Amino acid sequence: MSTERDTAPEHGTVTEHSTATEHSTATEHAGEAHHGGLAGKLNWLRAGVLGANDGIISTAGLVVGVAGATAERTAILAAGVAGLVAGALSMAGGEYVSVSTQRDTELAALRLEERELREMPEAEERELAEIYQGKGLSPELAAQVARELTAKDALLAHAEAELQIDPDNLTSPWQAAWASFLSFAGGALIPLVAIALPPVDARVWTCIVAVVVGLVLTGFISARLGGARARRAVLRNVVVGVLAMVVTYFVGVLFGVTVG
Ligand SMILES: [Zn+2]
Repeated sequence: MSTERDTAPEHGTVTEHSTATEHSTATEHAGEAHHGGLAGKLNWLRAGVLGANDGIISTAGLVVGVAGATAERTAILAAGVAGLVAGALSMAGGEYVSVSTQRDTELAALRLEERELREMPEAEERELAEIYQGKGLSPELAAQVARELTAKDALLAHAEAELQIDPDNLTSPWQAAWASFLSFAGGALIPLVAIALPPVDARVWTCIVAVVVGLVLTGFISARLGGARARRAVLRNVVVGVLAMVVTYFVGVLFGVTVG
């Protein structure tokens, strides 16, 4: 882009190019914040991986802690299952509340936009044209784009260009809640199964190995989705999970020694 600008000094194109450069970062951000499309799907996937990560770490801490206090499989399993259900419900509830609030905010913004379009359509069309001019279109073309988009679906045009909202594709609170529930529960099953199946002596170690494998996977995927370097993210993730298990194990041992 910069080489093109440097080698194209003809009159007329200069203004367009400098306008495009000034606003290019804003345009990129608008694209990133967009809710639909690929970015939206990646966000969902990322939220799912993070939910699974939470499920793995919190349930691992729970079952390893109880295993430090008692050798009874039933007690360990009961604690793990209760932790899975409680954690998944808590995640789902939190997600429901947060997405509902976001949805309310978006709906309010759409309603305001609708009113502005009704009360001052000319000013709104100018505003739309300015947005497209800011994205690098010439004033004439921006005005034409604004006119045609306004004629087709003014609210949709403003929602996308001005609010970065796709009014036909607002996030559903229930869908988000279910996704959190399932991803947390899915993650929680890893330590739960790993501690329930093996004989007493191998329980804690099997669980630790399974959890490390799970955390390497979730750490790797979420780092990749976020565009970050994978190795450090994986290491951090595994260290946090192992620390949680070590701490709860010794708390469990202390508790088992004192009380039992
Ligand atoms: Zn507007």
